[in-house]
Amino acid sequence: MPHRPGRHFLQIPGPTNVSDRVLRALSRPTIDHRGPEFARLGKEVLEGCRAIFQTSGPVVMFPSSGTGAWEACIVNTLTPGDKVLMYETGHFATLWQAMARRWGVEVEFVPGDWRHGVDPAHVEARLAEDRNHVIRAVMVVHNETSTGTTSRIPEIRKAMDSAHHPALLMVDTVSSLGSMEYKHDGWGVDVTVTGSQKGLMLPPGLGFNAISQKALAASKSNRMPRSYWDWEEMLKSNPNGFFPYTPSTNLLYGLREAITMLLEEGLDAVFARHRRHGEATRAAVRGWGLELVPLDPREYSNSLTAIMMPQGCDAEEFRNVALEKYDISLGTGLGKFQSKVFRIGHLGDFNDLMLIGSLAGVEMGLRAAGVPHDAGGVQAAMDLLSNETVAKPRLMESLFDKH
Ligand SMILES: *Cc1c(COP(=O)(O)O)cnc(C)c1O
Repeated sequence: MPHRPGRHFLQIPGPTNVSDRVLRALSRPTIDHRGPEFARLGKEVLEGCRAIFQTSGPVVMFPSSGTGAWEACIVNTLTPGDKVLMYETGHFATLWQAMARRWGVEVEFVPGDWRHGVDPAHVEARLAEDRNHVIRAVMVVHNETSTGTTSRIPEIRKAMDSAHHPALLMVDTVSSLGSMEYKHDGWGVDVTVTGSQKGLMLPPGLGFNAISQKALAASKSNRMPRSYWDWEEMLKSNPNGFFPYTPSTNLLYGLREAITMLLEEGLDAVFARHRRHGEATRAAVRGWGLELVPLDPREYSNSLTAIMMPQGCDAEEFRNVALEKYDISLGTGLGKFQSKVFRIGHLGDFNDLMLIGSLAGVEMGLRAAGVPHDAGGVQAAMDLLSNETVAKPRLMESLFDKH
């Protein structure tokens, strides 16, 4: 392929744009992962993760994709034959439940239309019915990356409490942590699963579990064979800044930088920025006269937007034209949305002009691909962004300056 001048626009909902600061951090020399310099790095990132997950408990990390972190969550908490409650919110929920089944877990998978999040009222009614407390866990995808639809975790927690049910709450935040509000402790979550390549602004390669005391207790009594994913081995080494096997040293340099960047900006400002970009993108979609996938405005994702292709138009053809003509990668339609939906990622290290450039790429791509749409989507987004006062970035002492 001949050189293409200028920056490629990587607007899939993960991996996201990796900033120059993180790229430079990644290029430091690899060091002895059993030595004193590493111990400091290990402690810093493990401590920093607590701030991002908003937890005072342990966060463990694996050299893996997000899928590995799903598996770690399952094998550390459940036993073959255990029953769990899951909801078909989209492609990722479907994959996670398929994985749980492969581990011998009995999944009650509530069907869904891929245009709604989890209904808290259903959770409450189903758990209230389960008088013998057979259901061991409720497993939810916070931000369904295939549909741009968010489930309301605090309301799900409330529903579980109202039903007085002891099930664990396990949440996939792969495409929301570090971009949308999320509180592991404050929302009463037992296991939070994430990966490095979306809101955390890193290349792929790290998987994370944040673990509550209740989940830790479950891990001591469950009977699922495990080795690589075992929390116990991680938790033995982590307090000293070490890992039971070779960690992704260079990704941890990147993680330290990414955490510093998120805390310099301030988590609230990070969430507000993503909210604004979500609103501006939805304004553009309305301006184009196209249809959003999520049907309930309370469930709009602020890290990505999924858009229905007009009848008779192929989303893949449109994506190919946009890539060829404007060097922008847009998200493909996943699972049953293949060819019917395209997605715009607007999360990670991202600002107003990058968003407007991306939306312009979409609008010009729609025109070039002959997809019927109204003009003025980009204009609507610009109006929204320029009429608002920008939240001032909060200056904060870097978490790592102390060292
Ligand atoms: C990306 C993603 C995953 C899978 O992560 P991989 O790193 O591809 O294994 C899981 N869940 C959600 C919600 C995702 O967006």
